[in-house]
Amino acid sequence: MSTTLPSLFVSHGAPTLAVESNAVTQAWGRLAQELPRPESILMVSAHWDTPAPAVSSASKPETIHDFSGFPRELYDVRYPASGAPALARRAKALLDGAGLETAVDPARGLDHGAWVPLKWMYPEADIPVTQLAVQSRLGTKHHHDLGRALAPLRKEGVLVFGSGGIVHNLRELDWGRTGAVMDWARAFNDWIALHLERGDTEALLDYRKRAPQPARAHPTEEHFDPFFVAMGAGGKPKRIDLGFDYGSLGMDAWLFQ
Ligand code: ZN
Repeated sequence: MSTTLPSLFVSHGAPTLAVESNAVTQAWGRLAQELPRPESILMVSAHWDTPAPAVSSASKPETIHDFSGFPRELYDVRYPASGAPALARRAKALLDGAGLETAVDPARGLDHGAWVPLKWMYPEADIPVTQLAVQSRLGTKHHHDLGRALAPLRKEGVLVFGSGGIVHNLRELDWGRTGAVMDWARAFNDWIALHLERGDTEALLDYRKRAPQPARAHPTEEHFDPFFVAMGAGGKPKRIDLGFDYGSLGMDAWLFQ
């Protein structure tokens, strides 16, 4: 395959988006139409958090319903894509080669961080998917290093796909979904966009000290870690401005071309 794929970060929002056709989920569908079609997908999900790097290798990964208290309809969702064991081996080789020793998990399925956006982007579930875990205690540089090590995959037909949240604090959601956006959430999102557009990787990796209210935007980092993997794997950033849901849940996607 001669085309180099971009890497991608998507803010996956609430699990209910799996069954909710709206402006965001429709934009994900259009995005997939615009991208070169990948041969396989390396999915870096916020919902698989391990102490050390790990990649899944199941040939038929099950759909994991890793949430509770949602409508029955969500527990019936299946995303029956094949796994990508060859991609898992290749990703492990690249990461091991960069000094990022990576375990292989033959049992791990696809969690909702993976299947919520994939269901809209590739509804036929006909592109093999394997997952890569995040390590939420290891910080931004670790995830950026994972991405850099995985960058060669973009020339091998692989979509390096981070799925998390650009602003993610579940304690500060507007459950009324009024459409009003909280100032602190917008300020953080704008800071990230500004520094991406400036190409200021150093500032972004140091966001915990430099961005406005970082601990409010990300009380824990697992939803932001996939962003740094996508950024590390890719090139020039392109924003897909998808605003906010529930008053503070940032929904922007970013392509790194
Ligand atoms: Zn999530």
